[in-house]
Amino acid sequence: MKDHIKQYINGEWVDSASGETIDVINPSTGEAFGRIAKGNAEDVDKAVEAAHNVYIEFRNTPAEERRAMLDRIVTEYENRKNDLIEAITDELGSPIDKSEKVHYQMGLNHFAAARDALDSFQFEEQRGENLVVKEAIGVAGLITPWNFPTNQTSLKLAAAFAAGSPVVLKPSEETPFAAVILAEIFDKADVPKGVFNLVNGDGEGVGNPLSEHPKVRMMSFTGSGRTGSKIMEKASVDFKKVSLELGGKSPLIILDDADVDKAAFTAVQKVVNNTGQVCTAGTRTLIPESMKDEFLEKVKEKMNQVKVGNPREDGVEMGPLISKKQYDTVQSYINKGVEEGATLYHGGPDQPEGQDKGFYVKPTVFSDVDNKMTIAQEEIFGPVMSVITYKNLDDAIELANDTKYGLAGYVYGEDMETLQKVARSIEAGTVEINNAKGAANLPFGGYKQSGIGREWGDFGIEEFLEVKSIKGYFK
Ligand code: NAD
Repeated sequence: MKDHIKQYINGEWVDSASGETIDVINPSTGEAFGRIAKGNAEDVDKAVEAAHNVYIEFRNTPAEERRAMLDRIVTEYENRKNDLIEAITDELGSPIDKSEKVHYQMGLNHFAAARDALDSFQFEEQRGENLVVKEAIGVAGLITPWNFPTNQTSLKLAAAFAAGSPVVLKPSEETPFAAVILAEIFDKADVPKGVFNLVNGDGEGVGNPLSEHPKVRMMSFTGSGRTGSKIMEKASVDFKKVSLELGGKSPLIILDDADVDKAAFTAVQKVVNNTGQVCTAGTRTLIPESMKDEFLEKVKEKMNQVKVGNPREDGVEMGPLISKKQYDTVQSYINKGVEEGATLYHGGPDQPEGQDKGFYVKPTVFSDVDNKMTIAQEEIFGPVMSVITYKNLDDAIELANDTKYGLAGYVYGEDMETLQKVARSIEAGTVEINNAKGAANLPFGGYKQSGIGREWGDFGIEEFLEVKSIKGYFK
């Protein structure tokens, strides 16, 4: 058993107040492989006090010092590469090469992007005889989900550190070990005492008191809309700033001039990546009516090539879902799709053959989906594609935007002018043309019910800043 039952507060590993623990499950076996502390309000209070004690000093550090600190973090993060990859594979069930190429790499990119943003970030600006100053907001509470253990935590931590805000992090209790390694990395990189505090535990025990704590000036949350709205409600009592990254139900619009084979490959990747547990997953596939049959054939061919299985086995592309709860949720959505009259074209609710342990599911495709159906409107967070046909481009754009979410959108085809027009028409914080790679310095966030605020790079740093006008500063 891998036990990590202490909290990291004020630069030290200390006992948790309750002495209680939470089991951490390996999703590929369904069995507990470690324990973490089950924190409570007392731990939160200690951590917030530690952060509060240093917030003025940290806010006033020159940006070059914080840049140097981020640079040391990048080095230490690289030194812990293997440990991070192992932890992510064990706690999330992500195939080992994806743990490296996606999860590990994204975390690293965020620290590097925040460091590099400081080279040109303007914290001060003269306007006539007056000065505009951007300064760190103070203690920030960070609450993160399990689906990208190093990415979700690192993007918030990198931005807060670059801005000069000390933090209290509560990572998901389902994937806590990558965050424990981050604490060790910061310790080694000489992050000043109190600037980083880690309180492990669940939403009720740790997330709640953190969101309510009067010395916390901002809550930065990524997770479900349900939890996001609870946090916002708590934060509203004393008007804490909130930054929320929530769910999505993103469209992939395939244009009528697209290469069907490549478009099908893209569509499959958009739903099987990370076993569909991606907030930006392109799960609503919109195709011209005339292309439907050929497209579905190709999708089936590509789905059959996706190797599902043990994340440590060679060539495995899709590991298990995170938990039994998530497994049950995905099954119930698949059953709901059938009940509401969609055609179950590929996959289905049973476990894949040969997988009797762990939380494995089959990649699944529904055709004849109406955009009003539950499977087209609600976030499933599993590898389930809904194929929806459209008549013309206006129809496609209307369908793409007909959801309460607006996190991401995808468009695939040949004609650049049409691709650009569609990209501009999709109501979402990120739109991707033909699988473009993007970068860690692009803003990330949602329209509508997908969230409030923007993260990543310089936009992420802005979230942790207050803005002050000093009149007559140059008089
Ligand atoms: P979740 O909302 O259940 O949990 C997220 C975090 O909130 C966890 O750390 C959890 O312990 C904590 N929490 C739970 N109840 C709380 C409470 N009452 N007060 C404070 N904290 C509480 O979400 P999840 O199941 O971990 O993650 C899946 C969801 O996250 C999906 O809906 C997905 O779309 C969303 N997500 C969004 C993004 C994005 O960037 N927009 C990225 C990844 C995941």
